[in-house]
Amino acid sequence: MSKALLYDATACIGCKQCEQACADKNKLPYDEGTAAEDRQSAHKFTVVLSKGDKFMRRLCMNCSDPACASVCPVGALRKTAAGPVIYEEDRCMGCRYCMVACPFGVPKYEWNKVLPRVQKCTMCADKVAAGQQTACAEACPTGATKFGERDDLIAEAQQRLRENPGKYVNHIYGLNEVGGTSVLLLSSVPFEEFGYSTDLTRDPLPLLTYRVHSRIPDFVPLGGMLLGGIWWITHRREEVAAAEKAGPTSEPKEKLR
Ligand code: SF4
Ligand code: SF4
Ligand code: SF4
Repeated sequence: MSKALLYDATACIGCKQCEQACADKNKLPYDEGTAAEDRQSAHKFTVVLSKGDKFMRRLCMNCSDPACASVCPVGALRKTAAGPVIYEEDRCMGCRYCMVACPFGVPKYEWNKVLPRVQKCTMCADKVAAGQQTACAEACPTGATKFGERDDLIAEAQQRLRENPGKYVNHIYGLNEVGGTSVLLLSSVPFEEFGYSTDLTRDPLPLLTYRVHSRIPDFVPLGGMLLGGIWWITHRREEVAAAEKAGPTSEPKEKLR
């Protein structure tokens, strides 16, 4: 069983407590200026968009078969059985293939940092692993963002559609898009009005990944190899420095070439 989030825009009041909770959880700054930003960024993993009295959340969809993970040459992004798509910054070599591959434009890069990371919502993976709900679901005062088993949330969304004819666009966004996602959306406003693509493939994402790879020019893998080399050297230096600090009897795992 895999966990998921169900966001029902018709229950959302636009209070942005999910944004605040996400920032707190991820130790990101959040003030009035941040609240006014309407784009996901390296310092804002979820946004609540508004059009009049209608709202919509955007965040990483934590796809069932994530394109970001399938293009990552070093396995820094990974789908977990529990649902979240996690990111291991120690593995990341900064090639940013994930940013090209994501069909939702989610991963962001810390361009202004000395040691930049890719940033995105990882569905509060540590909380989920500890049997807790995500910070955004916990903070939501109306239940518009709900955490649970994906299968249960799908059944609940289907029931809401069935019992409220005319209230919603008759579609659970994320049920089948790009092979299914761990974020499911219901809305009374067409999803495309909030920037969601409604013509996405239902294919498993490795197919999509193949298409992305075929669009990447030949010089990009060369750049990736170069970055990989820099990454390897940096990590070797850190490993040797740590071994030297530990004392004369402690050797690095391999000899430095
Ligand atoms: S939405 Fe993008 S970044 Fe998030 S899991 Fe899917 S492919 Fe990866
Ligand atoms: S699941 Fe966690 S990381 Fe993702 S938007 Fe919600 S609070 Fe932020
Ligand atoms: S906390 Fe809940 S009600 Fe408030 S903006 Fe987020 S999803 Fe909407």
